[in-house]
Amino acid sequence: MDLKLSDISPEEKAELERNIFLTTLEQIKAWARSNSLWPLTFGLACCAIEMMGTGSSHYDLDRFGSIFRTSPRQSDVMIVSGTVTKKMAPVLKRLYEQMPEPKWVIAMGSCATAGGPYIKSYAVVKGVDQIVPVDVYIPGCPPNPAALIYGINKLQEKIRYEAKTGKKVM
Ligand code: SF4
Repeated sequence: MDLKLSDISPEEKAELERNIFLTTLEQIKAWARSNSLWPLTFGLACCAIEMMGTGSSHYDLDRFGSIFRTSPRQSDVMIVSGTVTKKMAPVLKRLYEQMPEPKWVIAMGSCATAGGPYIKSYAVVKGVDQIVPVDVYIPGCPPNPAALIYGINKLQEKIRYEAKTGKKVM
């Protein structure tokens, strides 16, 4: 016997709507990726202390599925926290290239974003986006752990939005 949608009761219809979800494979992948971001620590100066604090029990970054890794091959997001000197730039780029795709970058603090207080220094890169593409910029000198968590949440939203719409958010 063929069952038609009109044959089911309103209660059964409501039950079905509560329990059946339609989605795409891309959205499932984005959901999994956004909830298991593994950051490569790239602490370069004072901002790194706040990044370390974010991983502590008080802020508990693990609850978002983010666990710091020390190997680029196990990481999919690079958190650049601190002053990027011109001497450090090639190392940063090399580690970024060693990370598997898909991968993302967070520029944490005004130094990583635009050179910060050292903007006039001949030795400092005026923003890590001159070396690698940046997905999220977090302002502050330094930004506190709550700001870093907010930035990670924004990255999670971006990953899910891109999978849903197929549009790249710059
Ligand atoms: S933004 Fe401020 S706190 Fe962060 S590394 Fe630069 S000088 Fe230090």
